[in-house]
Amino acid sequence: MATLYFLECHSAARHRIDIPAPTLLAKGSNLATLTTVEKRAVFVCNQCAIVSLYSSKEIRWEESHTPDPFQSRAYSLNCLQAECDARSCALPKIIHVVFHVAGEPYPTNAASWWNDGTAKCDGGHLIEWNPQTGLVAVDSESPF
Ligand SMILES: [Zn+2]
Ligand SMILES: [Zn+2]
Repeated sequence: MATLYFLECHSAARHRIDIPAPTLLAKGSNLATLTTVEKRAVFVCNQCAIVSLYSSKEIRWEESHTPDPFQSRAYSLNCLQAECDARSCALPKIIHVVFHVAGEPYPTNAASWWNDGTAKCDGGHLIEWNPQTGLVAVDSESPF
């Protein structure tokens, strides 16, 4: 048994975005922590390419008889170091991307990603990205 965690993408289709177990759930805490402590992170949906800001309060979970796919390395969390529209801003700007090692859904091409207007750095600047920038594996570490 494993608990699987996911987000529902912010397009009308509400695609499932699988995420690693939140570090907010470190020992001593429980699922209620997810709704009381808020962390935010930007993810891209592999199915509709929407780039949006998600809150830990939006995390869903389900019990499964299969192992956690992030622990079994069936899925991996990657990120893209992005930019924002303020050229001198040094605040972190990270877009998270989930790879399914077995294939589908394939990550969409970064050239087709679109910001729904919520993906911003902590300075409130809209996040932008260069599609040529490579993705970096972050080794299953959860942003939540
Ligand atoms: Zn979607
Ligand atoms: Zn900025």
